[in-house]
Amino acid sequence: MNISELIIPGDTPGIEWRIPVLHFVGTSATAPKVYIQAALHANELPGTALVHYLCERLRGAEAEGAILGDIVVVPQANPIGAAQSHFGEMQGRFDLASRTNFNRDFPLVTLAERDSLLADLGGQTAVNRLKRSLLHMALGADLVLDLHCDDESVQYAYIDEAFWPEASDLASALAMEAVFLSDGESTAFEEAVGYAFKRQGEEKLARVPGRLAVTVELRGRRDVYPDMAKADAHGLWRFLAARGAVRDETVRLADYTGPAVPLDNIEMVRAVEPGTVLFHKDIGDTVEADDLLATLITEPGAADGSVEIRAARAGFIATRTSDRFVRSGGDLMKIACGEPTRLGRKPGTLED
Ligand SMILES: [Zn+2]
Repeated sequence: MNISELIIPGDTPGIEWRIPVLHFVGTSATAPKVYIQAALHANELPGTALVHYLCERLRGAEAEGAILGDIVVVPQANPIGAAQSHFGEMQGRFDLASRTNFNRDFPLVTLAERDSLLADLGGQTAVNRLKRSLLHMALGADLVLDLHCDDESVQYAYIDEAFWPEASDLASALAMEAVFLSDGESTAFEEAVGYAFKRQGEEKLARVPGRLAVTVELRGRRDVYPDMAKADAHGLWRFLAARGAVRDETVRLADYTGPAVPLDNIEMVRAVEPGTVLFHKDIGDTVEADDLLATLITEPGAADGSVEIRAARAGFIATRTSDRFVRSGGDLMKIACGEPTRLGRKPGTLED
């Protein structure tokens, strides 16, 4: 393993951001190249914990000559977000200077235009330089995994339909509880990678065999524990072995049997009024139509001071908020349903 640094000049004098990049050199020219990054949303650490243990495994494999494809790992992709502390809390999701989500507004370029990402960086903000540099590294790989987490959540992934069902091996290897099949039509990191992978020549490809761009949601933000991280690292190792990026003849993946649900089938349960949230259902629960999901106390102490939030249709609760106060229109849950719920959905990601 060798470690280099991505160095990004700051936007003000005296500041420079340094991002360690770990390289494992493959022994096979034909094996898939891999790019793995974690904590692009700087306050989402399950992926950082995962890659810490994965790198331990990869160093062992390197000593045995079992690294077949080049593997690049960026364990903590966003030092700019990690350094943003506001009133004692890390603000890792949005750039405070521009209010832009760190995982949106990635440039959409074709694979042939990859090197344009690093051209003319003068005048770019540090955040934009960071985004362009990360995307440039990712586009040098075949398999790209962006490790995130949700708020309170089961383990699931956003996978562009262009990579499905080939990517069901990843869902199996990580024992995911759900897969959200996306259209890839936004500007998240994974979608920018997918955009380029689908545009390798003249025509946009509907399927991209042998390639993958995925956002993995490694449960909730507080789900950072040694055994969990080690199990996830083992799962990712199994995926790398199944794809031939590392050699491990013992790996046999079972078929993925969990739900694979189009984004149109994800019910975003929102608060109809502001109030204190009392959940009746947890992540991982299956619900029927009209089941009571949550009580919102809207006028504490009043005789009719609460409202019930009920399931519009049957489904599987994939995520819920960790907040216990919700504003009007605030997100409470994501429920994966067996039928379309939101035909008016705009393309791309579910949240801002
Ligand atoms: Zn995230």
